[in-house]
Amino acid sequence: MNADLLVVGSGFFGLTIAERAANELGLNVQVIERRHHIGGNAYSENEAETGIEVHRYGAHLFHTSNESVWEYVNRFTRFTDYVHRVYADYNGEVYPLPINLGTINQFFRAAHGPAAARALVQELAAEGATGDPQNLEEKAISLIGRPLYEAFIRDYTAKQWQTDPTDLPAEVISRLPVRYTYDNRYFNDAHEGLPVDGYTAWLERMADNPRIDVTLETDFFDASQPWNKAATVGSIPIIYTGPIDRYFDYSEGELAWRTLDFEEEVLQVGDFQGTSVMNYANRDVPYTRIHEFRHFHPERDWYPKDKTVIMREFSRFATRADEPYYPVNTAQDRERLLAYRELQKGEAKVLFGGRLGTYQYLDMHMAIGAALSAFQNKVAPMFGAGA
Ligand code: FAD
Ligand code: UDP
Repeated sequence: MNADLLVVGSGFFGLTIAERAANELGLNVQVIERRHHIGGNAYSENEAETGIEVHRYGAHLFHTSNESVWEYVNRFTRFTDYVHRVYADYNGEVYPLPINLGTINQFFRAAHGPAAARALVQELAAEGATGDPQNLEEKAISLIGRPLYEAFIRDYTAKQWQTDPTDLPAEVISRLPVRYTYDNRYFNDAHEGLPVDGYTAWLERMADNPRIDVTLETDFFDASQPWNKAATVGSIPIIYTGPIDRYFDYSEGELAWRTLDFEEEVLQVGDFQGTSVMNYANRDVPYTRIHEFRHFHPERDWYPKDKTVIMREFSRFATRADEPYYPVNTAQDRERLLAYRELQKGEAKVLFGGRLGTYQYLDMHMAIGAALSAFQNKVAPMFGAGA
């Protein structure tokens, strides 16, 4: 074994630390990854029959307002000028999202200007007001009123979380804005785009350094491989980006996650839905949304004109055998997480990071931003540098 630093997990958090440690500090970094590929959930590959890039773990849209993250990611890839827009099918009619003047006017069969629409929504919101919103349902009603909530949020959320919206934290939808203009950009960030030659090329460039060794299909908890937990903890600094409860053998109980199932299909048509993402708001449609990957890259003129790839997305609770995607974050989960954070303090040479290691929903730019700060404030000082 010849490495200065062990990184468990090759997602954006792990790769950012590995890249900085190798390029900035000249360290030898061993990365181990359980899956057969690099990149964690951001991994993508070209579908075999069509050559269309498919995001294997669900559509990934890059966006950020953090200038240092934007500068950093541009070292490894250029971005297209793709701007994400989402539409929703409700009762067989298609509406623009996030809820904006177009959605409101279509829904109420009206031609309101911004002031009238705002007054209408405020009136509807006041009808359902309960004071300080304590859960997702109360929060949504306080923002958009009951009719819009019941159409676009209630059943979609029930499908996505299989949890009563009154038991979900209000924050789940706080990132969904309501706009009194016809602007239907999904994200508000200063920078947005998709990597010109795909996610995997970007991720591979981050690891492209002779000082970084990435070993795939290697599980930290598999005692038969040399970089296992028992052999490494205490003897080498470790960045651990796997699930925090798994690290401690679930001693404080399991943290709840949701996972997704994806049904991919190649269709013999050039365009199936005319846009990249269509949400399905009604409960009787079992999937939450359909992705059509060709629309993420309209600039790729080599994509076939007579075939397309779609992916239906289904959501359900994760078992230990599934990939954990979204932290459920109930009160019990938050209590258990605090107990794990206490245990973490006993692991002096292990840094817990990323989505799984901190039990937090992190967008890519947040995972990268968190890794850049952790590198500066925690990793570099371990080697007598930086901070
Ligand atoms: P991960 O990417 O999960 O990487 C962790 C890695 O650790 C994995 O590769 C895993 O296999 C490995 N690992 C775990 N346990 C072990 C072990 N015991 N031994 C070895 N390796 C192990 N972000 C956006 O910005 N825009 C989006 O549109 C977007 N869409 C998303 C859609 C979905 C469905 C999901 C789930 C996430 C989405 N994200 C999006 C978030 C994005 O995927 C994360 O920000 C990013 O993956 C975080 O990187 P990470 O390194 O923390 O975690
Ligand atoms: N949401 C909804 N209807 C929609 C889209 C989103 O009710 O058509 C709610 C739902 O609770 C979801 C949350 O908003 O979990 C966040 O949605 P977003 O699409 O931002 O999250 P993603 O699933 O892409 O991470």
